[in-house]
Amino acid sequence: MLQQTQVKTATPYFKNFIKKYPTQKKLSEATEDQILALWSGLGFYRRARNIFKTKEIIKEKYNNRFPKKFHQLLELPGIGKSTAGAIMSLAYQNPHPILDGNVKRVITRLVNKNIDLLKESQLWDLSSQFVNKENCFAYTQGIMDLGATVCTPTNPSCKDCPVQNQCMSAFNIINNKKRKVAQLKKVIPMNLSLIQTEDSLLLVKNEASSIWKNLWIPFESRSLESYTNSFKLTSSQKIQHELTHRRLNIKLNTYISTNESEIKTNKKYKWIKKDRINEYGLPKPISKVINEL
Ligand code: SF4
Repeated sequence: MLQQTQVKTATPYFKNFIKKYPTQKKLSEATEDQILALWSGLGFYRRARNIFKTKEIIKEKYNNRFPKKFHQLLELPGIGKSTAGAIMSLAYQNPHPILDGNVKRVITRLVNKNIDLLKESQLWDLSSQFVNKENCFAYTQGIMDLGATVCTPTNPSCKDCPVQNQCMSAFNIINNKKRKVAQLKKVIPMNLSLIQTEDSLLLVKNEASSIWKNLWIPFESRSLESYTNSFKLTSSQKIQHELTHRRLNIKLNTYISTNESEIKTNKKYKWIKKDRINEYGLPKPISKVINEL
C-alpha cells in the first residue's frame, strides 16, 4: 500500500484490510472484487490485483503459508528485489539489501556520490555494503524512515540526522543536477454515462483498459447511445482526475431510468443495488460522484 502512497493516506486502508483479512487463511478466501472493493480510492489498483494473484499462488503452491526464501518471494506478483529484501530483513530477520528511492538517496549522500552517475548494479552493491547484519530489522526500518523524514530530497535536516558524523555530504548537499523538465502528463479523455434507478446503478466491469482494470465504472457514453433516449438526463459534469503520469478528463452524464434495462453488450455489467455498492471496487472519482447522488 505504501508504494507511491503516503503513510497517512494508506493507514485507514491498511487497518480496514487487516481487520477484514487478519490471516493468510482469511485472505485466501477473498475474491478479486472483494480485494478491489477495499482498495477503492487508494489508486494504483495493480497492487490489489497482485495481492489477489499472490494469495492464490500461496494457497496453491505453499498451502497458505507465506514463503520464506528470497527466490520464492521474487516469483510472487508485485514483489521485486527490494520488497523481497525488506520482507526477508523485517519479517524473518534475514539480512538483505533494499533499494527504493529513499534508500538510494541516503546511501549516495552518505558516500557523497552523484546518484545519477551510478548504475543500478552499483547502487545495489552500495546498498549491500550498508546492511547491518547484527540488526537488519532496525537498519532496514531505519534507513527507510531516515530517507522519508530526515534525508529528504530537498532541504535534508542534517543537523537532526543521527548519522551526520558518518555522512560525507552532511551540511553540504551540492545539487548540481539540472532540474528535469517536468514531464507533461498525457491527457486521456473519457466520456461516461452513469445510469441510475431509484435504488440501483448500472456499472460495467472494466476488463480491457489498463486504467482502473477490473474496477466497476459507468458505461462509455458511446456504447449506450441507442439507450440514452429512454433515460432522463439529470446532470452533466466535467471531472479532472490526476494519476501519476496521466490526467483523466472525464465527461460524466448522469441519467435516471425507470427500470433496470437490459443492455446488449459482451461486457460484464450489473445493476448494482445502491446499498451494496461498497462491495465493489470503484475508482475514486466515480465513487465520489456516486456518494453525492
Ligand atoms: S547528514 Fe544530511 S545528507 Fe547525510 S544522511 Fe543525514 S540528512 Fe542525509
